[in-house]
Amino acid sequence: MRSFTSFDLQYAHRFYGFRGEAQYLHGHTGHLTIEVEDSINEGVNMVFPCNEIKKTAWDVLKNFDHALVLRKDDPLLPAILGVYDKQGIREGHPQNKMKGEAFKTELATAYPDCRLVVTKETMTVEGMIKIVYELLKEKLNIVKITFTSGDNAASACFNTCNEIDRCPWCGIALNDNGVCPKCGYKKK
Ligand SMILES: [Zn+2]
Ligand SMILES: [Zn+2]
Repeated sequence: MRSFTSFDLQYAHRFYGFRGEAQYLHGHTGHLTIEVEDSINEGVNMVFPCNEIKKTAWDVLKNFDHALVLRKDDPLLPAILGVYDKQGIREGHPQNKMKGEAFKTELATAYPDCRLVVTKETMTVEGMIKIVYELLKEKLNIVKITFTSGDNAASACFNTCNEIDRCPWCGIALNDNGVCPKCGYKKK
């Protein structure tokens, strides 16, 4: 069976080199849905608690929220960093608090201190699905990701089979020592 979670991401981007309105900087509220599949955990009668899927995903994906997403070859990138430098906000600001953990993958690098994500490919809805899967495929048994942004929407299916031990009392993933980080249950 499947458990799934959804949340919104508010971001700015543009399609550099695209022949259309999207070549201009603009913003969206994107809606992301992540579906995970596993056996039913008999202790809690769930696949996985949805708030835990959301927490695991959000820890990384909040890097895209209230962020600017630009392709690495976009000339706007050095221009904007120049302005942030002049303003003294490139390396962060005391009121920039809702930050994710910095990450770097083949497809994207996050700079949470200035709320910027630099991508290898144009961040279309399809591009975002590839980025999200790469970021979370080790942590969740993702079988489907759907991303919509304005009129654009895409989905992709995956076959992810991590062996995730789950707590029989609260359903969340056990840590590397087989201990539940929430209730202290220890796998025998
Ligand atoms: Zn757009
Ligand atoms: Zn537990």
